[in-house]
Amino acid sequence: MLNKLQEEILNLKKEKNAIILSHNYQTKEIQEIADFMGDSLELCIKASQIDDKDLVVFCGVDFMAETAFILNPDKKIVIPDTGAECPMAHMLPAPEVRKAKEKYPDAAVVLYVNTLAEAKAEADVLCTSANALKIVESLEEDTILFGPDQNLAWYVAQHTDKEIIPIPEGGHCYVHKMFTPADILFLKEEHPEAPVLVHPECNPEVQEIADQVLSTGGMLQEVAESENEEFIIATEVDMVTRLKREIPDKKTMPAFEEAICENMKLHTLEKVKNSLINEEFLVTVPEDIAAKALKSVKRMLELSK
Ligand code: SF4
Repeated sequence: MLNKLQEEILNLKKEKNAIILSHNYQTKEIQEIADFMGDSLELCIKASQIDDKDLVVFCGVDFMAETAFILNPDKKIVIPDTGAECPMAHMLPAPEVRKAKEKYPDAAVVLYVNTLAEAKAEADVLCTSANALKIVESLEEDTILFGPDQNLAWYVAQHTDKEIIPIPEGGHCYVHKMFTPADILFLKEEHPEAPVLVHPECNPEVQEIADQVLSTGGMLQEVAESENEEFIIATEVDMVTRLKREIPDKKTMPAFEEAICENMKLHTLEKVKNSLINEEFLVTVPEDIAAKALKSVKRMLELSK
């Protein structure tokens, strides 16, 4: 049952003809009032299909809201807390991409959607953890500059003959770095039948002990469709919240309970309400950067069909 504040938010949403988009790592109370939940790719696709709404409240981090704006420059996109930044996206500023391009002029530039708009504008195409390999394989170039997550770059490199050059050195997600083989193997001893589903932002040694390496969207599908009854999940803890809500008959366990993205959790119901009432905080991207970034977003959407 929804609480009073959640009910107020739903009423305001109707009044304002708004839509609430939420990343899978949002808290249960935000998940409960979202119109749509998803991983980065699913949110990108959804953002490209918002025609009938006047206001988009984006409960995710900065680069996701920027992507929604790039796809909908005529819409008001608001983010409940402007401090919700992805530290990994900030590890790859545009000058760093330009420097790599000068060093490897024949390489294609594939950037994870977890990048700032200014870096997206420098890319040939974007990717997400769900489609990274497919995008890389679809390109003519044999050398790929890939950033900013070195673990996702490692994952792609394991499955392609192309040369993958990670940019910058050491780009990472602090949340997915928290998982260790020891924690996972300890859980696995107690639940030997549970497959281990690991996000490709985890370290190589964690990916190596996984039964499957999947995006959060892929995890949802796997838990729903697999015949297994229990699963060990190595990604941000609130992904398990979503799995438990939507697939309650399966047992899903976080591989590490403290794997929390504090940046995502800056959004609260109070702040969502404020966003709806005051239509703040508006997300915008300078026109020239948005136009270039749009090309790399659209190319990804085209190639991932
Ligand atoms: S979980 Fe990692 S990659 Fe995702 S928003 Fe948080 S810091 Fe960024």
